[in-house]
Amino acid sequence: MPDLFIDGSWRASGDGGTRDVIDPFTGQAFTAVDEATADDAAAAVAAARRAFDDGAWPSTPVDDRSKILRRTAELLERDKEEIAHTETLDTGKTLAESRIDVDDVAAVFRYYADEVLVDVDRTVDVGRDDVVSRVVHAPVGVCSLIAPWNYPLLQIAWKVAPALGAGCTTVLKPSEVTPLSTVHLVRLLAEAGVPDGVVNLVLGGGPTVGPALTEHDDVDLVSFTGGLATGQRILRAGAESVKRVTVELGGKNPHVVFADADLATAVDLVLTGAFLHSGQVCSAGTRLIVEESIADELVAGVVERARRIRLGSGLDPSSESGPLVSAAHREKVEGYVALGLAEGARLLTGGKRPAAEHLQTGFFYEPTVFDGCDRSMRIVQEETFGPILTVERFRTEAEAVALANDTAYGLAGGVQTADVARGERVAAALRHGTVWINDFGPYVPQAEWGGWGRSGNGRELGPEGLAEYRQSKHVWRNAAPKPADWFTG
Ligand code: NDP
Repeated sequence: MPDLFIDGSWRASGDGGTRDVIDPFTGQAFTAVDEATADDAAAAVAAARRAFDDGAWPSTPVDDRSKILRRTAELLERDKEEIAHTETLDTGKTLAESRIDVDDVAAVFRYYADEVLVDVDRTVDVGRDDVVSRVVHAPVGVCSLIAPWNYPLLQIAWKVAPALGAGCTTVLKPSEVTPLSTVHLVRLLAEAGVPDGVVNLVLGGGPTVGPALTEHDDVDLVSFTGGLATGQRILRAGAESVKRVTVELGGKNPHVVFADADLATAVDLVLTGAFLHSGQVCSAGTRLIVEESIADELVAGVVERARRIRLGSGLDPSSESGPLVSAAHREKVEGYVALGLAEGARLLTGGKRPAAEHLQTGFFYEPTVFDGCDRSMRIVQEETFGPILTVERFRTEAEAVALANDTAYGLAGGVQTADVARGERVAAALRHGTVWINDFGPYVPQAEWGGWGRSGNGRELGPEGLAEYRQSKHVWRNAAPKPADWFTG
């Protein structure tokens, strides 16, 4: 079956092009997908435009749209094992992580199935009996939804569920590296009853299909999750036609640990925050900022446990972490390690590919810890998107906050302390979109997710994640019309 979905039918690429999909554990292609041309992408946008302008979806009763979202959640649960297996083959992440992703995605569809039913329209009291003034909400229109490779299914779901719930029509573009779970999701959306043209899918490289999705006048909104440089390009692309462009970008996320935190718990949370999914997480806690008096002990604990992380195939239940997503990405991570060494950071563990025989085919990289870091170093400032933890030390709370906020990004941060008041104080002072106190990593569909600073300008999840796909309209009705009598002639 072809992989591009345009106007309700599955199609091959206009020029017959395909792209191999690589298993990051074997380094080998395990399947191939159709690769869209720029014309295919334009056809997908045109289909979404027709479905919005001439189709029933934007005015479909919200109850019916809600039912389709709920049905999609059920179908995701029905196909959970198959999707999780695909996601693991495609991304390299462990099956346990992929299963959690599918559960989370089903929860997001369920959440928006409920949330779209909440009436956000309102009546405004203008102080006149003869006037009814209402603020109502309409779908924004045609939305291009562009996702990265680290959480392919999850990131696209955070966009498409609220977009559909709001009554928008969509063109989905997963990363060329990890397209498969999105193909499956689109099949489920069609099975759940989404009408033709409302969801379209193009696969293909950003530079090829990107312009049609981000520059075309027929597109009203672009929601993008990915790297900073691509996000900046997409913001510029949308400027000409004044699109609504929301970007969810990278992070360089601080994890602050005070001396009064429970040490074993702090070690565990730092380890998980930095090395889950081999650090390929936008909210990974890659900057450890630790109080001087416990720094040596905490760092030794993290290093000792980092060495014991079991790397392996995502399909092997004993693996705790899989490979990096691609050869090119591993080279980028290696470049950052070389940079860290050149900048004078002290390598405590990792810093190389693992030697074990069974890890030679995959794109593995050892969990890496650099001590002696400071904020002048690029390895502390830039997102490496790999299993690299840097360590900085502080003496006072003010110093900890200053360090944690000294980043161009502002996606997420964590603080570990036994002092509740201090935890709240530091959380209030951090300029980041999410702050965890005595935890690191949880998110829920009900609470907004998004960045401050260069981590982005939009919000996903929660009511604001739905509001992105709606626009307000003020409707003024005069029940007793009479001349304005402004001009007298
Ligand atoms: P990229 O920015 O390279 O790509 C993201 C998506 O944009 C891909 O689908 C890519 O396509 C596409 N793209 C590339 N160029 C263009 C273009 N000119 N026009 C339109 N689309 C384009 O990011 P990665 O895929 O490498 O993902 C990693 C990044 O994502 C990290 O920086 C990470 O922090 C961030 N991220 C942020 C999250 C958040 O919530 N803030 C969550 C998850 C990740 P293709 O790859 O097929 O060429």
